Amino acid sequence: KVVFLNGRFINEDEAMISPFDRGFTFGEGIYEVCISVDGKIVDLEDHLARLDHSLEAAGINPPPERSMLSGLMHDILARNSIENGFVYIQVTPGKTPRNFVALPAERSTLLISTGPAQLEGSKAFKNGMRVQVLPDIRWKRRDIKTTMLMPQVMAKRAALNAGFDDVIFYDDLGITEGSSSNVFMVTADGALVTRPVSHQILSGCTRNTLIELAILNGMTVIERPISHDDLSNAKEIFLTSSTYLVVPVVELEFGEKAITYSCNETKKLQGIYIKYLH
Ligand code: PLP
Repeated sequence: KVVFLNGRFINEDEAMISPFDRGFTFGEGIYEVCISVDGKIVDLEDHLARLDHSLEAAGINPPPERSMLSGLMHDILARNSIENGFVYIQVTPGKTPRNFVALPAERSTLLISTGPAQLEGSKAFKNGMRVQVLPDIRWKRRDIKTTMLMPQVMAKRAALNAGFDDVIFYDDLGITEGSSSNVFMVTADGALVTRPVSHQILSGCTRNTLIELAILNGMTVIERPISHDDLSNAKEIFLTSSTYLVVPVVELEFGEKAITYSCNETKKLQGIYIKYLH
C-alpha cells in the first residue's frame, strides 16, 4: 500500500514520523475522511473547507501541499487502484521540543492514505445498528475534527463490549452526535430533526448534504436539539457520516430504557442519498 507523507508517495512500511511530532507528544492534530465513489470524491470541497476550518481553529499551519490536496487525493486512490473506498488526511503541526507552546520551525506533517470501504454494502447500511446512549465526555470544541479521539474510542469500546454497534452522545441540551456520525430523528409526522451546527458538534458533510436533499424532496427539516423524551416519541433515528452514509438505528438503549424503531423513511432517504452518490 502506498501512502503520501510529507511530500512523497512511499510504501506504508517505509512511512516514518518523528517521536517529537506534536501529534504524538500533545495529541495535536486534525483529520478528514472522504469517500470515493466510482473514482469521484464525494463532497470534496466541503471536506477541504472543513479541513481549513479545523487547521485555523486549532492554530496548525496548513501543510505546504494545501493547494494540491485535491490532486493528491485522486493520485493516492489511483496509485492504490481504489475507485470505491476512503481517503484519510491527517495534519499535525510537525516536530518541536516537548514544550506546550513551542512553534514548529519546519513543515506541518501531512499524511494521506486510502483503503477500501463497504459503504452501501455494509451490514449496518442494510440492517441498521443497535446503539447505546452515553454522556458526552468530550471537550467543548467538537466543531474541530481533531485526532484527539480518546473519548470516542473509550465510549465505542464500552458499547461494543456491551453488545452494541455504536454510541450516541448526549449533553445538557440533548443528543449531540454519534461517536463518528451525526444523528437525525424522524418525527411521528415525518419531519427530520437534527441538532444545529455549533461548537458542540461536528458540521458533518453528509449531514449537510442530506438536509439539502431532504428539502429538495419536499421534507421538513428542523434544526434543534433532540431531547431524551424525543427519543421515546421518535418514529425513526438514523446516523450519517461519510463512511456510514445513512444508517438506520433499529434499537437504542438509554439507561434502563430500550427503544426499537422502524426504518421506512430512513430507507427512502438511503435511496435518495445513493442516487446523489452515483
Ligand atoms: N461527527 C463526528 C464526531 C464525526 O467524527 C464524524 C465523521 O467522522 C461525523 C460527525 C460525520 O461527518 P461527515 O459526514 O463529514 O463524515
